[in-house]
Amino acid sequence: MQNKAVVVGGGICGLMAALLLKRNFKEVTLIEQSDEVGGLFRSVKDDLGAYYDMGSHIPNATGIEELDTLLFGAPHEQGNHWNVIKKLKSGNYFGGSWDLNSPFADSKKLDVATYQQGCSELIQSTTPSSQNHIMPYCQEVLGETFTQHIIKPILEKLYGRHTDLSKLTMGAGLFGFTRILAFDAEVANALKDLPVFDAKLGYQTEAHFIARQQKDASSTPDYYYPTSHCGIQAWVDYLKTKVEQAGVDIRCNCKISSLETRARKVEKVFIEGEPQALECDLLFWSAPPFIALNALGLPVVANRPELRTAIVFHLNLSKPLVDKQSHYLWVWDKYSDIFRLTLYPNLNPQSEFNTLSAEILCRPEEVENYQLDAIMHELKEMQVVDPNATCLSHVKQVIHNTFPVPTEAFEQNNEKNYSTLASSVDNIIISGRSGGKQWRQADVLVAAFNEINQYLGAG
Ligand SMILES: Cc1cc2nc3c(=O)[nH]c(=O)nc-3n(C[C@H](O)[C@H](O)[C@H](O)COP(=O)(O)OP(=O)(O)OC[C@H]3O[C@@H](n4cnc5c(N)ncnc54)[C@H](O)[C@@H]3O)c2cc1C
Repeated sequence: MQNKAVVVGGGICGLMAALLLKRNFKEVTLIEQSDEVGGLFRSVKDDLGAYYDMGSHIPNATGIEELDTLLFGAPHEQGNHWNVIKKLKSGNYFGGSWDLNSPFADSKKLDVATYQQGCSELIQSTTPSSQNHIMPYCQEVLGETFTQHIIKPILEKLYGRHTDLSKLTMGAGLFGFTRILAFDAEVANALKDLPVFDAKLGYQTEAHFIARQQKDASSTPDYYYPTSHCGIQAWVDYLKTKVEQAGVDIRCNCKISSLETRARKVEKVFIEGEPQALECDLLFWSAPPFIALNALGLPVVANRPELRTAIVFHLNLSKPLVDKQSHYLWVWDKYSDIFRLTLYPNLNPQSEFNTLSAEILCRPEEVENYQLDAIMHELKEMQVVDPNATCLSHVKQVIHNTFPVPTEAFEQNNEKNYSTLASSVDNIIISGRSGGKQWRQADVLVAAFNEINQYLGAG
């Protein structure tokens, strides 16, 4: 057994890492800068006791049995704590109406002339695109007309009208909205057998999607939502308890002041305000790499991308939600400020509240432009909320520094900082969403799990 590991960052990545490392290290210390662990998987409570999720909501199984047991408990116990969701139901609002079968905007809702022009352009491009920027990629793959009428308004909603869209890299497609719906459902289904059209089009019916999965012998993972009334926070609380029971020392409200190395190894971790350093045989780093570079006194490439502020309106309504099937919904219509809705009673049927969260992305100085009355009005117009419903309680949550506006410079600088750190120190694992290699929860956790096992196997 090795001696001492230090984990920096107490999000789900750091919590999982601490749990795994405690099997091999006598002492593991987890350092978190804020007053609670959990990172983006945390929940807030309103005055009437309803819980809402802050950022990410619905974790999914990773497909690695050992890791899934670590994260969600043994399969036979999962029913006690989790609503296991076999098929996550999503839909989108575009062109003034809902499509509850697909997350992708339907080009058939554009006016006839625009639709026909768009289809003729879309069908003409038959070579895959190698573009690294999202606008030229969509122009090549979907054609100019659909890019201007569907993709451009979505990008403006997510990244702001002030943003130079031509600078956005493919990282801007993080919600996978580079596909659209077009043609008759049967025609689209047939076209999707060709990889070049698969990249352009979404399925229009669940039956087509399932048939494709059966043909490819692929499957979608199980999704999990806690049965507890505390929202996704219950997952963090579950992991935190496991981490504590394993004997990991969790330290919140702590900041790293410096890292001391010898022979390319971090040997001491200094915490602000604490004279005694932590001894370190392995450093697991799930905070932004530039912070480690600063603590090591190594060169940092200044990387200040514009970071989007998320405003989340968490609402507890007097009447049941109109949509009783969708777990979450995209709002791609340019006339609404909202981009995503989460419908809690559909995630957790045990919930006693009629709750939903509506998310908006903006600049920090625009936060006051968005008010409850206007959001309620939009939700009633979209018929997600009953026209006679009132808001019984709510939380307007503002989360700064969520998504970076992804540009080439930002990605290159991130990569430079990551590689400077990775090539300077031998006993470090750089992981988590801040490392910039993965973003989605399951991808982040699988990468961290593999990196730890690889490190321990090599050691
Ligand atoms: C708005 C939003 C929506 C998302 N939706 C989805 C989704 O629908 N599906 C999906 O799969 N993924 C989603 N994600 C991504 C998902 O949230 C991440 O995959 C996940 O949070 C990664 O966990 P993490 O521990 O790496 O990072 P985080 O959750 O960001 O946790 C990092 C932790 O490190 C701490 N920290 C930072 N710096 C320091 C420091 N110097 N010292 C100590 N601690 C530090 C932070 O306080 C935080 O607790 C979303 C992300 C955002 C921003």
